[in-house]
Amino acid sequence: MTVTVEIVETPVAAHMDSGAAQNAKIAQSPLAIRGLTVTYGEKPAVFSVDMTVEPGQMTAIIGPNGAGKSTLLKAALGIVPPVSGRVTVFGRSLAEQRARIAYVPQRASVDWDFPTRVIDVVLMGLYRELGLLGRVKRVHRVKALDCLARVGMADFASRQIGQLSGGQQQRVFLARALAQGADLYLLDEPFAGVDAATEKAIIAVLKSLREAGKTVVVVHHDLATVTEYFDNVFLINTRSIAEGPVAQAFTEETLQAAYGGRLATSQIDQLAKV
Ligand code: ADP
Ligand code: MG
Repeated sequence: MTVTVEIVETPVAAHMDSGAAQNAKIAQSPLAIRGLTVTYGEKPAVFSVDMTVEPGQMTAIIGPNGAGKSTLLKAALGIVPPVSGRVTVFGRSLAEQRARIAYVPQRASVDWDFPTRVIDVVLMGLYRELGLLGRVKRVHRVKALDCLARVGMADFASRQIGQLSGGQQQRVFLARALAQGADLYLLDEPFAGVDAATEKAIIAVLKSLREAGKTVVVVHHDLATVTEYFDNVFLINTRSIAEGPVAQAFTEETLQAAYGGRLATSQIDQLAKV
């Protein structure tokens, strides 16, 4: 008796060592995270998360409250220490590449009770150019003012940051990130509690960064604007849920997986219509 075995040609990529393919992807990624676990107490806030950010694109990090989104960014920046895992930035260690990352924290976490002028907040973004104890020169002021102009806040340069509205403060923090001249921008809920005009101004700046070849990663809470604003999504609920282009990774199934019972089917139906 003869048995015929069908031999299927496998594509070249399949012959490639999957470890080598992984390493190539990590080397090209502005931010690659592998097996990241972070705990504050006993329960992990982030568990065994893998994430590979695509260069020159805008990626939304999405997940319910307490899903570990802020913790993921903080661990990526070395602000909170991971229990385990590896973070590479443009294929190198975080320590080597830190200057290439700009971070805009979640606004609620910043308390501006002490008197600081708007221009001084933006000048903080230039600390690498200025050096410790460096004197602020005219060229630095011009640069800081230019960054404020890009977010529509040039007229507020001499104001106290604590006197601005939440949306205005958020624009100033973005101006500080711009002053840094980074290649990778991490923003934690930049649109939370801001007015429509500020949201428009911020998204326009983020899109201009992308046009200039920069990589933008945003923790985003508004599911209705994901398709309009972003190229890719990363869904998280303590663990990685889904990752990829919006059309493939931002679906009813992945949203249900990320939000569980917390997202009503009617909300998903509405999303399908946008
Ligand atoms: P998200 O940004 O997605 O809302 P977080 O990363 O802020 O989530 O929080 C993830 C989990 O870790 C939550 O359960 C939160 O209560 C907890 N957590 C966050 N920060 C701390 C902290 N500094 N100390 C203790 N627990 C924390
Ligand atoms: Mg958060």
